[in-house]
Amino acid sequence: MTSIAASLHRIRDRIATACAAAGRKAEEVTLVAVSKTHPAESVAEALAAGQAVFGENRVQEAAAKFPPLRESHPAMRLHLIGALQTNKARDAVRLADTIESLDRPKLAAALAEAMVREGRRPGLLIQVNIGREPQKAGIDPDAVEDFLALCRDSHGLDVTGLMCIPPAEEDPIPHFRRMAALRARLGLPILSMGMSGDFESAIAEGATHIRVGSAIFGQRPYPAG
Ligand SMILES: *Cc1c(COP(=O)(O)O)cnc(C)c1O
Repeated sequence: MTSIAASLHRIRDRIATACAAAGRKAEEVTLVAVSKTHPAESVAEALAAGQAVFGENRVQEAAAKFPPLRESHPAMRLHLIGALQTNKARDAVRLADTIESLDRPKLAAALAEAMVREGRRPGLLIQVNIGREPQKAGIDPDAVEDFLALCRDSHGLDVTGLMCIPPAEEDPIPHFRRMAALRARLGLPILSMGMSGDFESAIAEGATHIRVGSAIFGQRPYPAG
């Protein structure tokens, strides 16, 4: 077994244990394997080990890596999880199955236009700046409801959930709880939260999607911006 396959096994075991502890079914949680900065060979190893859903944070990198793999693995799914420039909206819509980083009105408009032009409608999650960090992307928690209405009513976008990256230096649990409450209040099915260091807590608090990179693929060979 390759080390990536072994890591995937361990992560799936930990997901099952966390789900059991939370009284949830393992099928309720989707593992998004974050392959940013890792080569296509690593993605192919994960595919061979049964992993189907991947996360990338850069459109250009994803565009180089994924289309060839998709030809041999039509069931694979790509989530874009990084900051998205409006001039990359069309490429993003062409490539992604889900875009998790919808974080501003201009991007909503650009994605809506790109979806019309491409005739393709990836899933959309609103990125919430749950820790209200000034340097971080995302919609302020108090503004999510209005932003959701704008996406739906002005742009006809089908937003199905929320995503967050809690402040790195803080206990994530209170942030996860506030995300779960927000998701429940807005009646959205998807909640993407939890990474290598905290996905079990995220599952306990109601994550439906966890985004795990380094615990599967190892340390990143260069920083992902
Ligand atoms: C890189 C990244 C992850 C994965 O982080 P790890 O700590 O390597 O598991 C998850 N979500 C986002 C948005 C990321 O950019």
